[in-house]
Parts: sequence; structure tokens; C-alpha cells
Amino acid sequence: MERTFIYLKPNAVRRGLVGEIIKRFEQRGIKIVALKLFWMTREQAEQLYEIHKGKDFYEELIEFVTGGPVVAMIVEAPRVIDMVRHIIGKTDPLKAGTGTIRGEFALTITKNLIHASDSLESYEREYKIFFNEEEIVNYFLDVQDDI
Ligand code: ADP
Ligand code: MG
Repeated sequence: MERTFIYLKPNAVRRGLVGEIIKRFEQRGIKIVALKLFWMTREQAEQLYEIHKGKDFYEELIEFVTGGPVVAMIVEAPRVIDMVRHIIGKTDPLKAGTGTIRGEFALTITKNLIHASDSLESYEREYKIFFNEEEIVNYFLDVQDDI
């Protein structure tokens, strides 16, 4: 079983889109195994986005993601890393397909509402910035197909 790390950016929380976004994962049968609302620190943001340090959008990005509370989660399902990236859509909302989260609710690249790990290596690095192992919960979810 695969896991991925997701967080809803401050504009998703501010705009009241938390339920709408989480619903899309739940209705797919994706299982939430950790979930919290908190204010991301500058240190956490810099760690998460270290590969973008020095790029022209870096400062704006750090300011934005630390400018309000976020909702972070770890989710679990088969092939969930690619599945979640598919559900959220491309980084630029202009290129994100209709029916994707970014394609339906986002307008600009910086404020593209949501983050999800892009690979197993990214997941392993990213979830540890925000979660302890004790925060990951084991339980039975009975709406998942095929598992
Ligand atoms: P993704 O979030 O889809 O994995 P990246 O890892 O490439 O995208 O970039 C991380 C975040 O940085 C994006 O979600 C977006 O908010 C921001 N970003 C990336 N590229 C740009 C850009 N050209 N202009 C403004 N913001 C950007
Ligand atoms: Mg990325």
C-alpha cells in the first residue's frame, strides 16, 4: 500500500474549500491516515521547498504558504502518489484539466490551492517535516474497492 503527503494551502482554508477538496479524495476511496490544521512555520516551508530556493517565485511562495493556516494530511491507497497528482491537476491552473482541483478552483500558479508529493522519495522527505510516526493512524476503511 502506498502513501502520499498532501497539504491544502492557506487560500483553500481561507476560501472554505477544505470540505470540497477532501471530499474528492474520500469519494475515490482514498484513506486519510493523518490529518491536521496548523500554521506552517517559515522553517517548515523552507525545508519543503528547498529545491526551489533561488528561483524568482521562491519568496512569494514562502510568504504565501506561511500566511495562514494549512490542512495537511497523509493518505493511503494503491498508486496513490500518481492518483492524487492526477486528481489535483497540473501545477499551472491554466494547464490543469477540467475536473481537477486546480482546474476547477485555482487561478494562479502560486495560489494553486494544494500540494502533493510527486514521488516516493518526495513523500519520504516531506511527510517527516510535518508529521511524527505516532500521528499516523491505523484503522479499517470499508469504502475502498479492490483492496
Ligand atoms: P507542484 O506543487 O505541482 O509539485 P512545483 O513543485 O514545481 O509544483 O512547485 C511548487 C510550488 O511552487 C507550486 O505548487 C506553485 O505554488 C509554486 N510555483 C511553481 N512554479 C511557479 C512559477 N513559475 N510561478 C509561481 N509559482 C510557482
Ligand atoms: Mg512539487
